[in-house]
Amino acid sequence: MARHDVEEEMKRFFVDKVTDPPVLSGEQHKHLSLVLRARPGDNVILCAGDGYDRICTIKDIRRNETLLTLREKVRNESEPDISVTLFMSVMKGDKNDLVVQKATELGACEIYPVITKFVQNHERVVKTERLNKIAAEAAKQCGRSMVPIVRDTINFKDIPCMLGGFDLVVFPYENARELSLKGFLTAIDKSAVKSVAVVVGSEGGFADDETLALTNAGVVPVTLGKRILRAETANIAVLSVVMYELEQWR
Ligand code: SAH
Repeated sequence: MARHDVEEEMKRFFVDKVTDPPVLSGEQHKHLSLVLRARPGDNVILCAGDGYDRICTIKDIRRNETLLTLREKVRNESEPDISVTLFMSVMKGDKNDLVVQKATELGACEIYPVITKFVQNHERVVKTERLNKIAAEAAKQCGRSMVPIVRDTINFKDIPCMLGGFDLVVFPYENARELSLKGFLTAIDKSAVKSVAVVVGSEGGFADDETLALTNAGVVPVTLGKRILRAETANIAVLSVVMYELEQWR
């Protein structure tokens, strides 16, 4: 079996830090021992958010913790070289779940749920704890070494002053006509881009004054072509294109 397949079989656990010897406690210990019914001798991977996978063997399963032995520390190659932050306007129902899951698979490192003018009132309470759990599950499944952070919900008006810290801002706007996403990404010096912000509207799209606030901040709106995509499709499509164009799909 290829290394990738072997690692796929091993369960991945995200921990704040790795102790010596490594242990799993709390929910992770319960999950491993009771749900997965792991046994001494089984292997697991510990990720502490530092870009390394620690391959460990279970030494002992105690009442309150699982004791591990560190076998090998290997670099996790699955993280993208660029850091992508998604500003995801809040969508209806479980669309937010879908986008957080897919954004995690596609390599986003930070997600802000955003309340825009056209987000409906009854959709405005976002369960970020739940979204963080979804991100953690997706990160495990796709073999990442870190879990993207789903931040607390922000208002659209907070965005313009947050954008200064990014090398590139991608703003798909349903009424943009002049510049395509392709044209936009072709014109930039990709080697200089280390951090990207992606700002996508909700089902209702962006209000004129929201678009103006972004263009006043120097952001260029781009079109995704002739068809209007659903908000969840637009989030996933733009992240895919950004990862592809910035050469993260090798
Ligand atoms: N209700 C709006 C569409 C919103 S689509 C209307 O009818 O005009 C949701 C979001 O997806 C948009 O705000 C935008 O960010 C993105 N989007 C969808 N299709 C797009 C396209 N063809 N070009 C640019 N952005 C698009």
